[in-house]
Amino acid sequence: MRLKIISSIYQNFPKESRIVRIDFEGPKIAVYVENPDVVNQEIVKKVAKEIKKRIELKASEKVRKDPKEASEIIKAIVPPEAQIVDIKFDTDLGEVLIKAKKPGLVIGKGGTLLQKIFAETKWKPVIVREPPIKSRTIDNILSYIYSETEDRAKNLRTFGERIHRDVIYKSGNVRVIGLGAFQEVGRSAVLVETPNSRVLLDAGLNPSVGWGEDLFPKFDLDDLRLDELDAVIVTHAHLDHCGMVPYLFKYGYDGPVYVTEPTRDIMALMQLDSLDVAEKDGRPLPYSAKEVRKQLTHTITLDYGEITDVAPDIKITFYNAGHILGSAMVHLYIQDGRVNLLYTGDFKYARTRLLDRAADELSAPRLDAVIMETTYGATDQQSREEAESLLVETVKRTVERGGKVLIPVLAVGRGQEIMLVLNDLMKRKAIPEVPVYITGMVDEITNIHNAYPEMLSREVRDEILKKDENPFLSEHFNRIEGYREDIAQGEPSIILA
Ligand SMILES: [Zn+2]
Repeated sequence: MRLKIISSIYQNFPKESRIVRIDFEGPKIAVYVENPDVVNQEIVKKVAKEIKKRIELKASEKVRKDPKEASEIIKAIVPPEAQIVDIKFDTDLGEVLIKAKKPGLVIGKGGTLLQKIFAETKWKPVIVREPPIKSRTIDNILSYIYSETEDRAKNLRTFGERIHRDVIYKSGNVRVIGLGAFQEVGRSAVLVETPNSRVLLDAGLNPSVGWGEDLFPKFDLDDLRLDELDAVIVTHAHLDHCGMVPYLFKYGYDGPVYVTEPTRDIMALMQLDSLDVAEKDGRPLPYSAKEVRKQLTHTITLDYGEITDVAPDIKITFYNAGHILGSAMVHLYIQDGRVNLLYTGDFKYARTRLLDRAADELSAPRLDAVIMETTYGATDQQSREEAESLLVETVKRTVERGGKVLIPVLAVGRGQEIMLVLNDLMKRKAIPEVPVYITGMVDEITNIHNAYPEMLSREVRDEILKKDENPFLSEHFNRIEGYREDIAQGEPSIILA
């Protein structure tokens, strides 16, 4: 397979491009050349199609502009309205991270500015949105990743070599083993094995168990060796699906973690927070912040719909699961399509204000098995309309009596959904316009939502990107840290905590 890939690249790339190196960087193949100007996108596309891999054209270090000069060139190319807030260089991967408030203006129509940046600086641009209110989490994560570029590049190349190794068995049985969340709630983990490879879908903890072996999935399975896993794939950032990923790194795993970008951010925040809480409760978790950082340098982020090789005989594709920001269902395409599996993780087919409903069309030719989450599957729940009118009544009654409405919310998803509901009700004058106080964790997670508006529901996305009316920045919302006596004793208000 490797020989085929390399010879296809050499056959199609013009000789004058002067190939210096071909690196397997995780699932992508990076071709470093001295003269990228002579390689047009058509050539790259042709090779990608021929070998069914993702190809990235990069410039060799020798021809890249000095970072200082490159920054100046970028600032000259990008219109000031884009509001660039940070530029970081990754010399090991030849990439430049450009953080801007209006990323669309950095990309340009049809990616024209990106091409221009690459042509003039020879650095491959990676664009990130800076949310209107800074997210500490995203800032810390990006700073950390860009301070560990050597480590990350080394990891990607190790993963790449492993993914593109030659296989012995072309077919053979595929085994699915439930390590957690089967006939129980919590500690989700599913092991998928082929004769060549093994991947783990989710590694959650059981939130109802404080300590002991029921906290973990059954990683003590006889022949399961963590260092032999090819990939860990995480569907979303709730701890019952991701809470034990750092633990894997502590006990021998050294491979990639595949997630969507928001899942990477929220997952790290949730893990660090749960370490804090567990410590305070006197029941420390079996890992530390060190493993959370290790997880970050081993993370590969994927978009929905992006087909990715994670093992020599397994490709995966993420689809929107409609559950929380960044949540994904995973389609596994095994042994050239001989076996197709879908693992849903937590999913939702009803629309919410915050998110579009889960994807209902896969590009899979067929599915041989579906591993489906069923918690709440058979429960009758109050309809949205009923719940909202109950909320309206409660808020009205409480405010009229001069009281405060305390709404306890989960920081991820529910908090933002309630914010959208309250903002809409106030806009329509269905409830009195009183101040709404948002506390620490809900606030920070909302900032992360604001960094990924393209992954929110169509309505919210349009409000933010087209109308420039971000509902999360509504005048009704007030951010607070810690306890505030004046709010507790003050005028009627609504508090989300
Ligand atoms: Zn969940």
